[in-house]
Amino acid sequence: MANYNPKNFLILAVDDNSVNRILLEKLLKKEGYKITILGSSEEVMPYLANITPDIILLDLMMPNINGLELCESIKLNPNFQEIPVIFLTASDEKKDLLKAFDLGAVDYITKPFHNQELLARIKNHLELKFTRDELKKALIELEKLAKTDDLTGISNRRNFIALAQREFNLAQRQKRFFSLLILDIDYFKTINDTYGHPIGDKVIQFVANKCIESVRKEDLCARWGGEEFIIFLSETDLEGAIMVANRIRMGVDQETIEIEDHQINVTVSIGVSVYNNDDVSVNQTISRGDMALYQAKNEGRNRVVAETGNK
Ligand code: GH3
Ligand code: MG
Ligand code: MG
Repeated sequence: MANYNPKNFLILAVDDNSVNRILLEKLLKKEGYKITILGSSEEVMPYLANITPDIILLDLMMPNINGLELCESIKLNPNFQEIPVIFLTASDEKKDLLKAFDLGAVDYITKPFHNQELLARIKNHLELKFTRDELKKALIELEKLAKTDDLTGISNRRNFIALAQREFNLAQRQKRFFSLLILDIDYFKTINDTYGHPIGDKVIQFVANKCIESVRKEDLCARWGGEEFIIFLSETDLEGAIMVANRIRMGVDQETIEIEDHQINVTVSIGVSVYNNDDVSVNQTISRGDMALYQAKNEGRNRVVAETGNK
């Protein structure tokens, strides 16, 4: 690890032997670690309730609650599961170590410990933990990216289909309902041709924001394709969906978009469809919205058309 700095890590050491406590504290402080030393097992869980150390050094033999029992309690709590535990053991306690590994310990050090060995093992496990934590963060970020459309920051098509299908299944089982809006920017090719692609991109972002602003938190807006969007409106009937669609349509129509020195006006056409309990999948509900959108385009654009209801 390039920038390994003991100052960034807090070690919790637990030992009932005061000589060991003094030795550990001196050694680890000198190395630069932040350290808390506790003299009994009973103090550990209350301590962990407020503070999460990066690693725990645990004496194996302690009165009342021994190190193994303590390790078990620590590992049972999901908040502490990831904290590496290293056991400090006398050499004749080796048979207990198998149990310690079973309980989730990552390593052990035999007492009397060799300072450099102790430091090396601590460093090794802290580095491993750090790397694991970083990987986890990267994975969360990747998962987010996989669901998001780059240009607008809203959901992408794949994520929309997955979520909408889940809601569709719920609607089928629980007699719930929803509506869909499919929206397409009118004559968008002309925007690109007149102002260039980068400004076209900004217009797409503007429409995405209008969609987000116009719906509730429970609803889902996604980029469906180039200049097309799709919106899932939960617990919304056709009439309600037409209202939302018109709010978006008028919002876009009435606002002049200012980009660089240009004042740009665009309009959108929107097709509306509502869940029908004969639908076999959400794609069927989407298709009816698509047909309504097609009709809105044919009837002259800048309008909302609801499905004709061939239920
Ligand atoms: P209509 O009113 O029938 O919808 O006409 P239109 O010109 O909007 O429709 P068409 O589907 O022919 O054109 C859509 C254009 O959108 C074509 C494509 O180059 C452009 N486009 C697709 N994705 C992007 C993008 O990410 N950024 C930009 N700037 N343009 C895009
Ligand atoms: Mg278009
Ligand atoms: Mg289009």
